[in-house]
Amino acid sequence: MTAAAESHGGRCLCGRISFRAEGKPLWVAHCHCESCRRTTAAAMVTYAGYRPGAVMWNGDSLATYASSPGVTRGFCPTCGTSLTFEAERWPDEVHLFVATMNDPDAFKPACHVFTKERIGWMHLDDGLPQFRQTSDDTAGC
Ligand SMILES: [Zn+2]
Ligand SMILES: [Zn+2]
Repeated sequence: MTAAAESHGGRCLCGRISFRAEGKPLWVAHCHCESCRRTTAAAMVTYAGYRPGAVMWNGDSLATYASSPGVTRGFCPTCGTSLTFEAERWPDEVHLFVATMNDPDAFKPACHVFTKERIGWMHLDDGLPQFRQTSDDTAGC
């Protein structure tokens, strides 16, 4: 078996935008904050953090939306799929959505963040650490 470097492809729903993330993610975490929930219309969101230079993009350009001061969310302008989260707070990271990856099972979340905003019926019994906001102001766990 050859030990190829870890690499993950992904795409939006319509396929006009695809990407490849090289190397291991810096961290993988579930976010329960209201902003992430609304932007994806999902009960929670699972992110993988990467250095911006580790992610190669193909196809159309992302549309962006500043969801709060210092935060930019990238999405496909055709189908609306959320593709990136970037924040001035974490200047050397781009957060990708694990659900847009071609092999989401390859990612192992390490914790839950912003559980203070969790939907009440979204029960967590996976044994992972839970943080009311973030773990010591880092995006990862
Ligand atoms: Zn699309
Ligand atoms: Zn969030």
